Amino acid sequence: AARANAPDAPRTDALQVDVTKPHSARMYDYYLGGKTHYAADAEAAEAVVAKLPQIVQAARANRDFMARATRTLSREYGIRQFLDIGTGIPTEPNLHQIAQAEAPEARVVYTDNDPIVLQYARALLHSTPEGRTAYLHADVTRPETIIQSPELRGTLDLNLPVAVSVNALFHFVPDELGPYDIVEALMEPLAPGSFLCLTHGIGDIPDEELSERASDVIGIYKRGGTAFVPRTRAEVSRFFEKLELLEPGLTMAHLWRPDPEAAERLPDDALTLHTGVARKP
Ligand code: SAH
Repeated sequence: AARANAPDAPRTDALQVDVTKPHSARMYDYYLGGKTHYAADAEAAEAVVAKLPQIVQAARANRDFMARATRTLSREYGIRQFLDIGTGIPTEPNLHQIAQAEAPEARVVYTDNDPIVLQYARALLHSTPEGRTAYLHADVTRPETIIQSPELRGTLDLNLPVAVSVNALFHFVPDELGPYDIVEALMEPLAPGSFLCLTHGIGDIPDEELSERASDVIGIYKRGGTAFVPRTRAEVSRFFEKLELLEPGLTMAHLWRPDPEAAERLPDDALTLHTGVARKP
């Protein structure tokens, strides 16, 4: 299936974008101020922002974290291979632009299950000549279709470490689909010294009023047909069970190795996403 879904392959009906229902990737694009969304997405996203304006800063903090984590793994750990799952609609700077600015030879495989991301994937394929990027249309709940894909095998050398990023993804994977087993299946075939970068919607918001608003947001997603499952810090820490968390451990996205030179910084007590980067021993 992975091969048939390569960007240059003819579309199947299953890959058509349904513009009548809001979709998570397009709603996220709305939060980030992008232009790749339809009326149904904007309407649902506006309802979310009205309930929980913090979602906009969380989305930005999430992108900024991705940039800092990518730089850190490149500079301090020499990582040159990246597998980004649940990539989302291309948003500059994309991961390969950051990784290849650090090291032009960096290789990046992107994957998402949303047909609209596939449609715009071309923007992710502008690699440096020294490096390489690939896009794979796949579902993370079938991790073997990612690991075994010709796109991944043709781009990454699994004898060398790979940094896997699953940012703002697993809150769309309910417990019955086995999210922890999925992460294990993704990490298992990778070399020692590989990394997992993960951000996740917060299921343990301390403030009661805010927590109620977050429940309303879950309802908005649900009515649009998307399961949204924020998890507590303890639940998120389970994703890292067999791995070694880098400093500062599991934290809010904006507190993960913040850039001291950043123009604007969120207050320490802002709520963004549970966030961690961990090394496979
Ligand atoms: N990782 C990006 C985008 C997050 S938005 C970032 O952090 O900026 C979440 C993305 O996950 C969306 O693009 C959505 O299409 C994708 N997604 C949701 N469920 C998925 C699944 N089962 N398999 C693959 N991708 C999925």
